[in-house]
Amino acid sequence: MERRGLGYDYVRQEFVGGNVLLHVRPKGKLVRCPCCRSRDVLHRGVSKRWLRTVPVGFKPVWLVDEVPRIGCASCGLVRRIELRIAEPRRRHTKAFARFVLALTKAMTMLDVAMLLGVGWDVVKDILKRHLHRRFGKPSLAGLEYIAIDEISVRKGHKYLTLVMDLRSGKVVFVGDGRGADSLRPFWERLKRSRARIRAVATDMSAAYIGSVLEHLPGVAVVLDHFHVVKLMNDRLTEVRRMLHRELQDKMGKNVLKGSRWILLKNLKNLNPERQEHERLQEALGPMSRWPRPTTSKRNCARSGTSRTRPPRPSVSSSG
Ligand SMILES: [Zn+2]
Repeated sequence: MERRGLGYDYVRQEFVGGNVLLHVRPKGKLVRCPCCRSRDVLHRGVSKRWLRTVPVGFKPVWLVDEVPRIGCASCGLVRRIELRIAEPRRRHTKAFARFVLALTKAMTMLDVAMLLGVGWDVVKDILKRHLHRRFGKPSLAGLEYIAIDEISVRKGHKYLTLVMDLRSGKVVFVGDGRGADSLRPFWERLKRSRARIRAVATDMSAAYIGSVLEHLPGVAVVLDHFHVVKLMNDRLTEVRRMLHRELQDKMGKNVLKGSRWILLKNLKNLNPERQEHERLQEALGPMSRWPRPTTSKRNCARSGTSRTRPPRPSVSSSG
């Protein structure tokens, strides 16, 4: 058997313990420096490399390669030549990896490992490397609108920062941890890709916003509708609780009860028939002693819509 296409000569065949061993030897054209590709090399012996390859039926097949060790006359490197049929430091051929990948589409990794008589970690390694090659570094060229957010994994023990392409919905970057540091590799890749980002949607984290403005000065930062409404609702609840505690022993206790919707309403939408203007005045009266939160609530009440809608995780576009 001579495998002309791959450049290997067949030496001999053995059967050992149910395994098929095919001894092969690379042809002279493959003997070149792995570093500078020079053919001007001196032979420095041979070592054997065992590579699992696609089985014949249920019989495991090994290619036993006689791999020449060479000394390069051009660059001085002394090393084994590279085999095109296998990746460096792997104990299987590329064909075997493709075979494993095809099987993992139809069965679990453990099933594949048991069927082929290899360790579960071998199958996992093949799948992981494939996923990394295929999806590890999606191109950032042409990226225009992105969203940055964090997710917690392992029940909150670990955080990941995700960058998403808002046009395609694809995740284009996953950073370890959260905060500005986790985005550093993304900014480096983005710079190399020369993508021109038009707008970035983030939550209200100062770390993310700061990082965005540092690396994309002048870009439009869009705050997620959900996060803005959530913050406003949280602050409103906080203020009402504070006031409620404050007024617990005083007559104003009942004033705040039922005032939430009035506080959220636009002024012009207040209903005179239900004395909503008066109730708003009563509710806001005691608040004047709490300058910061009160002011922000009043602003919200005036500029907001008449009702808060249930929070939606949509991204609104604004300047
Ligand atoms: Zn060389």
